[in-house]
Amino acid sequence: MELLKDKILKNGRCLGADVLKVDSFLNHQLDIALFNEIGKELKRRFAGKKVTKILTIEASGIAVASIAAQYFDFVPVVFAKKQEAANLSGEVYSSEVYSFTKQKTYLIRVDKRYLSAGDQVLIIDDFLANGNAALGLADLVEQAGGHVVGIGAVIEKGFQKGRAVLAEKGYHVESLAIVQRIQDGQPVLL
Ligand code: 5GP
Repeated sequence: MELLKDKILKNGRCLGADVLKVDSFLNHQLDIALFNEIGKELKRRFAGKKVTKILTIEASGIAVASIAAQYFDFVPVVFAKKQEAANLSGEVYSSEVYSFTKQKTYLIRVDKRYLSAGDQVLIIDDFLANGNAALGLADLVEQAGGHVVGIGAVIEKGFQKGRAVLAEKGYHVESLAIVQRIQDGQPVLL
């Protein structure tokens, strides 16, 4: 996706050796024209797959997943919650996720009413790094008896182990731009 690559190269900022900030178009201010192209491209990458639901994680995954859903026949989007919420005190699927950007482990949860056996779930997130968020989301789907159709990330950091971990478990992984390394404070794309 040339549009996405251009945005990363022009507007991405690196924090240390392994974090890419893309707040101006993906994580804080949202470039909706770009999101629309991301949605179309995700549909192209998972063409022919039956998807009944898209699952993501709050907060940054929600916008990407919602716009992408329009290209998947407007299937429902479910987002896993990271915060304990009063209205989630009942029956939930939960899984532990370690965040390397925040350096802590947190619980993600989805109300049992929103994931079911028979669901064909596409997991979408903004970044793929070590694969922990995606593994946690896949765990929620599988606890419900659903099937993970694939995992789509907008930006993959190819120097971290996420793809290998997810591929080893047999998941179909697609990312729309791959950062090969961060060099002199700049992202180098594949
Ligand atoms: P993983 O679970 O694959 O290690 O990391 C993916 C999650 O961490 C994503 O949900 C994303 O929000 C966050 N993340 C990981 N690396 C980065 C990064 O370089 N930049 C930003 N903005 N978020 C990241």
